[in-house]
Amino acid sequence: MIEVRGGWSRWAALVVLAAGCARRPAPPLAGPSSAPVLQTPARVALIAAPVESDWKGLGEEATSLLSQYLRINTTNPPGNEIAAARWLAEVLRREGIESRIFEPAPGKANLYARLAGDGSARPIVLLNHLDVVLASPEFWTVDPFGGVIKDGYIWGRGALDMKGEGIAQLMTMLILKRAKVPLKRDIIFLATADEEIGAGVGAAWIAEQQPDLVRGAEFLLNEGGLTRAKAGGAGVEFYAVGTTEKSPFWLNVTARGTTGHGSRPTPDNPVHRLIRALDRVADWKTPLTVTPSVERSFSDLARIERDTTVRRWFSDIRAALRDSAAVHALTSDIAYNALLRNTISITGLKGSDKTNVIPPVATAAIDVRLLPGQDPAAFLAELVRVIGDTAVTVKPQGPNWPATESSTETEMFRAITEVARERTPNALVTTMMLAGFTDSHYFRRMGIASYGVGPFPLTQADSRGVHGNDERVSIDALRSGVRFYYEVVSRVARQ
Ligand SMILES: [Zn+2]
Repeated sequence: MIEVRGGWSRWAALVVLAAGCARRPAPPLAGPSSAPVLQTPARVALIAAPVESDWKGLGEEATSLLSQYLRINTTNPPGNEIAAARWLAEVLRREGIESRIFEPAPGKANLYARLAGDGSARPIVLLNHLDVVLASPEFWTVDPFGGVIKDGYIWGRGALDMKGEGIAQLMTMLILKRAKVPLKRDIIFLATADEEIGAGVGAAWIAEQQPDLVRGAEFLLNEGGLTRAKAGGAGVEFYAVGTTEKSPFWLNVTARGTTGHGSRPTPDNPVHRLIRALDRVADWKTPLTVTPSVERSFSDLARIERDTTVRRWFSDIRAALRDSAAVHALTSDIAYNALLRNTISITGLKGSDKTNVIPPVATAAIDVRLLPGQDPAAFLAELVRVIGDTAVTVKPQGPNWPATESSTETEMFRAITEVARERTPNALVTTMMLAGFTDSHYFRRMGIASYGVGPFPLTQADSRGVHGNDERVSIDALRSGVRFYYEVVSRVARQ
């Protein structure tokens, strides 16, 4: 295998990590830390939009708020997002911003708040999720729900995914309100439940039950982007903005046959049929496909790629895919492979519970991820052709959606680029397709241009805390990320 090195593989590893966002083992019902106490953080007075000297204090305020927020244990399941929603409502209320809490199920909550603009342009939604994944305290060096501030970092489950970004969005609301920044757009703050379990009563519930809350919005900012800091933390290597995500298309495969005793083999044992069908599926090489956003990412990243061969491939990925050496190298990298084709992972198998009984039915679960622009029905028809056995059926596990893509030719994308380049001259700002998915798809399908933004400059080592142990964000990165968020949003929203 030729090793593919360079800037992009560094974030591509994170993309694959994020692909596992949705399914985690069930945590204990009670968290390891006690209920949070709301303190009043030092509040930076603003009479106008913040100037350079205000940002130190605003960073301290954000640090204090994040530390408190991390003490609210919203491990999902059960989530208990209501506690986090009430805390956010209180922080907003003190600032004179009214919010609404929806409780779609006991203990579950979605919070909605809105700053009014003059209505001359369409709203911006700031979307964040309240829940976090399980933390196993025995593997952490601090209490994951202690809100610990130590060694220049704020530690805790959710610091990166995504209570830290939630605080950057919250601070953006507080600063705009406090400084009385005149707005042409409404700013909608939406904090939701159940992102980490991939369904439930969070963003899906908003999209189905309360779509009017966000109707007419032009832009949405959410998790799903990345600011990659150079190793050692000296500056930014690139900014990657999430413009699209692959679409999960989870399937059940069922083989039927004749039941019987294991001592007298039947010719149509469904387990045998299933294994043969899955063998064909596992061998199937789905076609390589270059989507516009992936093409752009590769050609952008060619600019910072040091290996001359890889740089040539990246600069014209379509040409590279006609070269067998390049195809072998690129598809041997699991992150690149996932960006260049629909992928299939066989993940579940079930036959008989008893070793001596041939079951009437054998089943498998398959995790398929489709690229933007792919037709699920056409993919399914192709898969059935590959299986080639009428005794084996394939059915989607639930509803699916086409992967949608948000344009880079928008005021929001330009603002992100401008703000990035003001802090990092000539910064590389590129697009990113997540192999996994966030809640953005609910809103892209409503016609809202939705972008994944990672406001905190993170090294590769920093990113490991996402769904891992010792999740933390540096105070410097938080301060810089709060400012980044505010500058992007105010640039697009102010009159
Ligand atoms: Zn998340």
